[in-house]
Amino acid sequence: MNKHTKRIFKAKDLCRRKFPYLSALVFSMPCRPSEQCETLAVDQCGRCYFNPEFLDTLTTEQLAYALLHECFHLALSHHRRRGVWCPEPTEQDLLIWNIAADLCIQQALSRDAGAWEPAGILNWAQYRHIPGMSHGLTTEGYADVLRHNLDEPEPPPFGGSCADGVPRDGEREGNPMSLDAKLAQVAEAIEQQESTSPGSTPGILRRAIDKRLGRQPDPFEILKSLVARSVASPIGTDDYTYRRMSRRQPANCARMRGVVRLAPECAVIVDTSGSMSPYIHRAATAVAQGMRRVHRPRVICFDTDAQSDRRLSSLSQFSWDGGGGTRMDQAIEYADTLKADCIVCITDGETSWPRTKTRARLVVAMVEDNVRSYPPPEWARIVKCWEGSEYAG
Ligand SMILES: [Zn+2]
Repeated sequence: MNKHTKRIFKAKDLCRRKFPYLSALVFSMPCRPSEQCETLAVDQCGRCYFNPEFLDTLTTEQLAYALLHECFHLALSHHRRRGVWCPEPTEQDLLIWNIAADLCIQQALSRDAGAWEPAGILNWAQYRHIPGMSHGLTTEGYADVLRHNLDEPEPPPFGGSCADGVPRDGEREGNPMSLDAKLAQVAEAIEQQESTSPGSTPGILRRAIDKRLGRQPDPFEILKSLVARSVASPIGTDDYTYRRMSRRQPANCARMRGVVRLAPECAVIVDTSGSMSPYIHRAATAVAQGMRRVHRPRVICFDTDAQSDRRLSSLSQFSWDGGGGTRMDQAIEYADTLKADCIVCITDGETSWPRTKTRARLVVAMVEDNVRSYPPPEWARIVKCWEGSEYAG
């Protein structure tokens, strides 16, 4: 590993710690030296080029900032959006687009990495006085404001075809589409982080990725995060007991109590009544998602009675047992006696509901819109999983 590779790896590691959701993008970005590049640049395929001499002038933090800056160009799809904003740009348009893009990125990075910013990156004060300028505009918004008010834009320090879609000298050829898989990983990581700490990722990033990938909201994603949230805080906490030796037990001292960790328990009820038969696939998907989150969940197939009740460690063990009527009230009461922390009930909702609140948190995944005709209890979390539903998280 040469000196520059080492430094870049160190900087990427720093990025990973501050922006874990960008890891997929940061670490898959190959960096190669290029004399034609004056500072740092990224092309549309996500390859980074750096000028070795320029790299030596940066600290690790500044280098991390520069790499993050380039990742944001990719994640925000600036190269594609420039084509829509101005299909036949002049030199001036390109410069303005670059500045607008960098203004957005600077704001997105300011909270978590603002302190790493190398000098010479855009100076907000330089543009603040322009009429129509404000924080929080989109790249297109900034570009429109600047186009009418800036006569001699200065080129921003970092560039590359990923900022505006125009290939630079020395960039290799490649397929810009190859980015989508990485962005999908970033989107998933963002979602995971948002489920535990909402508002910790830049909104412009989430929206841009969703738009690029054309992602339709998947109700099972909500279900997944609800399950994760429910089991992340199991009812009851760590317990102390003399039956276990404490990890901090000193020799020749009175016995200290050890900790018993309560592993979260999740019971998944699958409504296997006759009316559910068109949704077998959806239900199995939800079970699979639950299994990814919870260690060996208990999966109960229930129509009017428990048809099967077993702990599953893989989806191949899941079988559709049932075919009769629907009594989810009994199913939920039955599952609640199992002392689970969370009950997920996958049903079409054509059922009666338990009258008393369950001890466990109840998540109802409804695959058919029966909320009005069979209103579920208020204390349950409802996930609307039917086709075209405007579900609420
Ligand atoms: Zn830039």
